[in-house]
Amino acid sequence: MEFEKLYIQAKNTLNPRDISPFISAGSVASAILTDKGKVYLGVCIDTACSLGMCAERNAVANMITNGECKITKLVCLSSTGEILTPCGACREYLMQLHKTNGEMEILKSLDNFATVSLNELLPDWWGKKQINV
Ligand SMILES: [Zn+2]
Repeated sequence: MEFEKLYIQAKNTLNPRDISPFISAGSVASAILTDKGKVYLGVCIDTACSLGMCAERNAVANMITNGECKITKLVCLSSTGEILTPCGACREYLMQLHKTNGEMEILKSLDNFATVSLNELLPDWWGKKQINV
């Protein structure tokens, strides 16, 4: 699947809204493509007291619920259309899921749909030896 299609699916998932006086959601959306060709979507959930969840991890939760863990492509964008790369916590989370996830391509710019790998975003990852057992 092309990054353009993943980008469009993520963009269509954006839905910024307040859910309660403490929680808002949908101002960031993510689409992940698995090795089986399935797409899983997620939005950010922002809360008081730092209990929220990034869009990427929400998409991953959806993927895990459906029995998958190997990601080949990831797109994340804000409601202003800005392409985002995963935060440090998400990079770690994505890396721990599967030994080949470091090879996933992550969209970093709409200019020619430039990408970066998770390995490039998280060099010298501490768990490489353990996950390759
Ligand atoms: Zn994150």
